[in-house]
Amino acid sequence: MLTDSVDMLKGVGEKLKNDLALMDIYTMEDLLHYFPFRYDVAEIKPLSELVHDDHVTIVGQVIHDPSITHYGRKRSRLTFNIKVEHAAVKAVMFNRTFAKKHLPQGTIVTLSGKWDAHRLQITVSNYQVGYPNTDVHIQPIYSVKGDVKPGKLKVLIKQCIDHYLDEIEEILPDTYLTAYKLPTRKDALKMIHHPSSQAQLKHARRRFIYEELLLFQLKMNLLKKHHRQLSEGRKQELDDAKVARFIKKLPFTLTGAQRNSLDEILVDMKASIQMNRLLQGDVGSGKTAVATICLYASITAGNQGAFMVPTEILAEQHYQSIVKLLGSETKIALLTSSVKGKKRQEILDGIKKNDIQIVIGTHSLIQDDVIFHQLGLIIIDEQHRFGVEQRRTLREKGLEPDVLFMTATPIPRTLAITAFGDMDISIIDQLPAGRKEIETYWVKDNMLDRVLQFIEKRIAHGEQAYIVSPLIEESEAFDYQNAIDLYHQLETYYPAHIKIGLLHGRLPNDEKEGMMQQFIQNKIHILVATTVIEVGVNVPNASVMVIYDAERFGLSQLHQLRGRVGRGDQQSYCILIADPKGEVGKERMRIMTETNDGFRLSEEDLKLRGPGDFFGKKQSGLPEFKVADLIHDYRALEVARKDAAYIISNHLLETDRAYLSLNKMLEEYTEQQRFD
Ligand code: ADP
Ligand code: MG
Repeated sequence: MLTDSVDMLKGVGEKLKNDLALMDIYTMEDLLHYFPFRYDVAEIKPLSELVHDDHVTIVGQVIHDPSITHYGRKRSRLTFNIKVEHAAVKAVMFNRTFAKKHLPQGTIVTLSGKWDAHRLQITVSNYQVGYPNTDVHIQPIYSVKGDVKPGKLKVLIKQCIDHYLDEIEEILPDTYLTAYKLPTRKDALKMIHHPSSQAQLKHARRRFIYEELLLFQLKMNLLKKHHRQLSEGRKQELDDAKVARFIKKLPFTLTGAQRNSLDEILVDMKASIQMNRLLQGDVGSGKTAVATICLYASITAGNQGAFMVPTEILAEQHYQSIVKLLGSETKIALLTSSVKGKKRQEILDGIKKNDIQIVIGTHSLIQDDVIFHQLGLIIIDEQHRFGVEQRRTLREKGLEPDVLFMTATPIPRTLAITAFGDMDISIIDQLPAGRKEIETYWVKDNMLDRVLQFIEKRIAHGEQAYIVSPLIEESEAFDYQNAIDLYHQLETYYPAHIKIGLLHGRLPNDEKEGMMQQFIQNKIHILVATTVIEVGVNVPNASVMVIYDAERFGLSQLHQLRGRVGRGDQQSYCILIADPKGEVGKERMRIMTETNDGFRLSEEDLKLRGPGDFFGKKQSGLPEFKVADLIHDYRALEVARKDAAYIISNHLLETDRAYLSLNKMLEEYTEQQRFD
């Protein structure tokens, strides 16, 4: 049975069983669903077409029995010659003495590995006795843990396919297989482990991509439905007139996009559902302003508001700007880990007694000792920095407060709707009027002197500059400019009246705080920093952002960094110092100089999608998939989304026999991966 334990396979003892468990493989079914993480695909080409240093595959006949030389303590080298076309090619294999017995003189063998065109030599990473199945040789590569050998794993999977594949049941209704021309689950499983051609591999992958995305979208739909049912009856009695008066008193008029987003949020807060909304907007688009209005609105209903941000610097800044906007009638507290002792106790008491109406802080907000009187609204800035558990804890402190996530990572609309299918989404896609576009330049480091002179000129005008570098200190592994060296270089380069500060993540919090304060007060003119300043820092007087080794950063990060300037009335500049090697890197620099629009940047990146991906994967808050790739496969995601919506709204899972297996799988899937 598919649920049989893997140790029922030949050659699996206690030790191997435990190691397989490390890879989450317990049963035959798990083994069948342990997919290769990539494939070595090699076309068999004539020797004359092989490129030096490439990974290649060749086929030939062994000319003489391999010979083995031992060296070092446990190391060995196995060498032999094979005849390919009319040439003798030397093959070298390391630490695989056992291969000797498979490769006696006369054997036909398929080898893949690194090609040395000068010596006609291949350093073998994989070999297979016999001719390849087709002209294209596709080698599945599995990731392994513990002492599991890739070769052993392949043997086990092969055994499993031979004996258990027939038990695999289809879960997609036939109509879908026909409509999308997908292989059955059984065929697809076989092909994904042993594809005989690229086309077959693609065919199999298409099936699993669709299956995975459909399950995901079904789950999102169910979560949303569930959420709606759960939070029935929850309303905030907002005082519309007060809110309107407050908006009128603001020092600026809201943009149309701010107004729309605000209206969507207020409707949610008043409605009998718990808000679960994502507010997306480029840096400086006025999200915090909208959030502040919402916090105020919550207070008019007699509730409290909480604002949670990723860093202390940000908490401090938001605190100051919110105090400025809300004025003195509102009681606002800042709660970070640097607030200690008696001061902290006072704030906690205030929060408990509802004397404090709004609290702004970092993770400290969700510590056990923080007890709210009546939490109406939580705003979470840059949601990806907060884990599921933290969000849940905070949510549980109030009476199911409305939750608003804010992010400055512009995600293309289609992708956002599909990826965050369990959330509602508001987008601010417009900047306040009168903002000057930041001028962006891309230069090589031989222009450095001019860049530094330019900064000096801006400082003479009373403005300030950031210089960002990817590293804190010198590193053996990377040849990049580091913040500490840079700081010392600038100290000697500039005259004494130009003050330079250094800010990086390893400084203690109070030093960071102090440095930031000095920069805000213009006592420091140039701030040399690592990416600690990436998120949200607001110093309107700063007008120049220089980014060293800019090719090290993803587009999204570059855009975030650039967003630190252009916050005041003066013209601002972003200078990228970079010498990217590849085309994709160059294209990224070019795009940066062409547009300031984060949404356009993300669309461009979606097209470009080189190795440097826009979201930086882990940080994005986007869910991760086994086979599918949200960005690459977003068309499939769209299709799956429509299908899922159709299935749910027509109650097919419960009423149609064709959906029985899918429903069962969905239950398992939902249990396995508790995506928040
Ligand atoms: P975000 O949080 O999206 O980065 P903020 O809300 O911090 O943006 O706004 C950036 C700056 O623009 C702040 O100084 C804010 O006071 C100002 N601002 C916000 N909305 C407007 C608007 N509609 N018109 C003019 N200035 C605005
Ligand atoms: Mg902000």
